Amino acid sequence: MSSLVIQTSYLGDVVLTTPLLAELASRGPVDVVVTPAAAALLANHPAVRDLLVFDKRGADDGMAGLWRFARGLRKRSDGTTREIAAAYLAQGSMRSASLALFAGIRERVGFDSSAGRMLYTRRSRYRGSRHHAERLWRLAAGDEAPDPPPEVIRPRLYPGERERAAVDALLKDVPRDGAQLLALAPGSIWGTKRWPHFPALAARLAPLYRLVVVGGADDNALAAEIARASGPERVINATGKLSLLASTELLSRCAALVTNDSAPQHLASAAGTPTLSIFGPTAPEFGFGPLAPRHATVGNQLLTCRPCHPHGPEVCPLGHWKCMRELEVEQVSRALNSLLLP
Ligand code: SF4
Repeated sequence: MSSLVIQTSYLGDVVLTTPLLAELASRGPVDVVVTPAAAALLANHPAVRDLLVFDKRGADDGMAGLWRFARGLRKRSDGTTREIAAAYLAQGSMRSASLALFAGIRERVGFDSSAGRMLYTRRSRYRGSRHHAERLWRLAAGDEAPDPPPEVIRPRLYPGERERAAVDALLKDVPRDGAQLLALAPGSIWGTKRWPHFPALAARLAPLYRLVVVGGADDNALAAEIARASGPERVINATGKLSLLASTELLSRCAALVTNDSAPQHLASAAGTPTLSIFGPTAPEFGFGPLAPRHATVGNQLLTCRPCHPHGPEVCPLGHWKCMRELEVEQVSRALNSLLLP
């Protein structure tokens, strides 16, 4: 009998689900329902038997798509039947819960705060004060399990040969002058979570490190600004050039990552790369901060309006955006130096 984990949320949440996958894999096979974008992220993962791609915004959209996917879920590609002991609703929507119900899975486990909780047969306490990786891990480990050691809830991803080759290709023309790589992740899909002083920080760091800008294709303009500020010869622009798994491989080769509160911090947690995360309208206390063995967070502690939003609003509701604008380069630079001290 296998477990089924349904995680169709943001990519960062998928990374934070990997400790739950490892916990379940110690008991038996684990199959995972993910979005098309997240499937590549879990490639090579030793805790995962089958990845089932649920295209909830495309081919599997709507009630008919949901029903079709749920009915097909029991058939494995080798023609055998998938026996599922329990479904773990890592993503808490009614749609995910309905998927497990329509697939005929008797035990359905999720958080007591989730939208789909009425369809669960067991509800786990959503502990607002704990890291989300721990909250997810507790879906299997149980509410009464002792506090896990940090390594148990640290996410894990497994870049393979293809990812190593992609990073080798990206770095092949970089001069071998002994300069360490330091990664910057200046993007975020939420506008107010983008710290605007990355170029000034980069100018300060460029004499000491070779800088690598990581992110998606949408972050290209931010990377160009960083290159302008610090000298193009000191900057490697990796935005839009690597898959998320290859970005994890790249981060594993960096001395540290400086990032907004966004997905790259979770990739760095999986890579074990020292991470400094910058928080503006959100806060690490929400449970989505970095989990690398060495990590730190920085934010404007003097503002009473922080945090103002669970994800970060597109524009500051007060109009001044002081949480990020007034967070100075000096403060971030000092936090990074402390993090990197031997
Ligand atoms: S209200 Fe405060 S915390 Fe929210 S975006 Fe504006 S400055 Fe930042």
